[in-house]
Amino acid sequence: MKPQSTAFLEWLTRWESELPAVPLESVVREPTRTAILSVDLIKGFCTIGPLASPRVAGIVPNVVHLFQRAYDLGVRHFLLTQDTHDPDSVEFGAFPAHCVAGTAESETVDELRALPFSDLFVVIPKKSISSSIGTELVPWLDSHPAVNTFIVVGDCTDLCVYQAAMFLRLRANVQGLRDFRVVVPADGVQTYDMPVETALQLGALPHDGDLLHRVFLYSMALNGIEVVASLT
Ligand SMILES: [Zn+2]
Repeated sequence: MKPQSTAFLEWLTRWESELPAVPLESVVREPTRTAILSVDLIKGFCTIGPLASPRVAGIVPNVVHLFQRAYDLGVRHFLLTQDTHDPDSVEFGAFPAHCVAGTAESETVDELRALPFSDLFVVIPKKSISSSIGTELVPWLDSHPAVNTFIVVGDCTDLCVYQAAMFLRLRANVQGLRDFRVVVPADGVQTYDMPVETALQLGALPHDGDLLHRVFLYSMALNGIEVVASLT
């Protein structure tokens, strides 16, 4: 690797380790104008099925805690975009079959469903790694123009979370919404690991969870998304 790239990766590691923890209250300034978007915190990415990842399951307690504290501050908008695939989904050409509609894999994780205010959840099915293409997210945004702060959590940092957070940021940029904020707490998002050796055995593409999590957090920050270590 070029020295320049090595220096960048060293910087990137330090950048991630020095991300600030930010009080949740400083983000939820107006609860009625704040929403949490939880991406793919479903059983098929946490505990069961071919794409379940312990790294992803590990963020569930943080997200549950965040939901509860946001609710306590008065937040009532909880959007959950979730893979809900057809059995012959085109995406299964790139990823093993997962999260088919009607299966346990496509269900919201129990820890979120157990929250006493889970009846407020707006579950938005999706059929790709995009939360916005061909889903009810855009109609929801259009019908809630006052909402100007989004906290994005879930998985995977480099796939569906990245797509969702970038969509919200870019849409606001296009619409000239200067006070629109997209906030991503690093401890509320995660991605999976596929070591090179395992990938070679499976004939799959390898995937380094630590590195890709870091690189995509950086890319979101580069684009004006507020990436913080946590919302305390
Ligand atoms: Zn999928």
